[in-house]
Amino acid sequence: MREIWTRLKGDFQLSILSLVALCSLIGVGPYAVYRLLEGNWLVGLLDTTLVVATGAAVFHAWQTGHTVRPGQFLAVLYSIVTVLVTINLGINGAFWFYTLILFNFFVVPPLQAVIATLWALAALCGYELLNPGTLFESRYQLTSFAVTSFICSFFACVFALRGRYQRLRLGDLARLDPLTGTDNRRVMDDELERAMAVHQRHGESFGLLVLDLDHFKSINDRFGHREGDTVLVRFAEVVNSVSRQTDRLFRLGGEEFVLLVPRVDAVGLSAVAEHILQEVAQNVRSPGGAVTVSIGGAILGGHQSADDWLHEADQCLYDAKRSGRNRSVIVGLDGQLVQCPQGGAA
Ligand code: GH3
Ligand code: MG
Ligand code: MG
Repeated sequence: MREIWTRLKGDFQLSILSLVALCSLIGVGPYAVYRLLEGNWLVGLLDTTLVVATGAAVFHAWQTGHTVRPGQFLAVLYSIVTVLVTINLGINGAFWFYTLILFNFFVVPPLQAVIATLWALAALCGYELLNPGTLFESRYQLTSFAVTSFICSFFACVFALRGRYQRLRLGDLARLDPLTGTDNRRVMDDELERAMAVHQRHGESFGLLVLDLDHFKSINDRFGHREGDTVLVRFAEVVNSVSRQTDRLFRLGGEEFVLLVPRVDAVGLSAVAEHILQEVAQNVRSPGGAVTVSIGGAILGGHQSADDWLHEADQCLYDAKRSGRNRSVIVGLDGQLVQCPQGGAA
């Protein structure tokens, strides 16, 4: 039960699809029974198909964790069913079109919702124009229906776009360090947990580097915080530029960063650290001259938790600081130290 709640809270689209399934069961289910009882087999069967297919799509989303295809499937299905029901029931069915508009904007991205909704609207208007008087009493009624549907779709689209933009913004605010644009500690905690799980399940190797700028406080003290900030931004750019696409850089806080390196051994991790030492010494400068960094690293293996792993890399960082800075100390699986001396000239 707790896991269900956690997934509903964490996955907006899954929670919307689940709500749709619930609404379809409560809202359409009784109609299906009513239509079947009054002998309207077509609408009764359509309603029943709707409830069952919705349940199946949402079940699939829960099983696989994929919500895009089930959402698209439901948008297409509900659009077709609304058109068929309206053709069968006439003006009484047309009222459901407004529900369809909202529904489409809930289950698929705005552009896809516009396409599905306009297609259904065009189908109904086209049917009425080809068979005048079958759905609407007059041209005036048809025009009113088309215009009000169009206006509803427009407002739904504006709301959907705005909601989507705000969700993305909120996601960025929760995830990114505002100064350097790197992922923050919250994301790092999740990624380290994920790396531990992948390592335990598939045996994939991971390395972790903790990077701490040398004598950074003196840059702030001598040239001001703004210069310090510029150095931090440049440092993140340089580390990102020398990392592989699969490596992940996080800002741990202050002038400390963490680089998560997948598929690497101790020698490889030491080479990555060496490369960073050289690039930083050459390309990161403050008004006082070249800026250097000290690096501690550990290969994942035998750790009880992500915290233990980080702690081991942190201990190596202290060793690098103690033995003179601008160097790296990496510990391998066997506890063997791989030291990369000053400036990465191993
Ligand atoms: P060490 O070589 O031992 O690492 O010395 P250090 O001076 O780099 O380390 P220390 O921990 O003494 O100082 C870190 C400084 O980083 C202190 C703090 O004011 C500064 N700092 C933390 N966050 C920021 C930030 O976002 N911007 C700037 N400009 N400075 C920051
Ligand atoms: Mg420092
Ligand atoms: Mg520090």
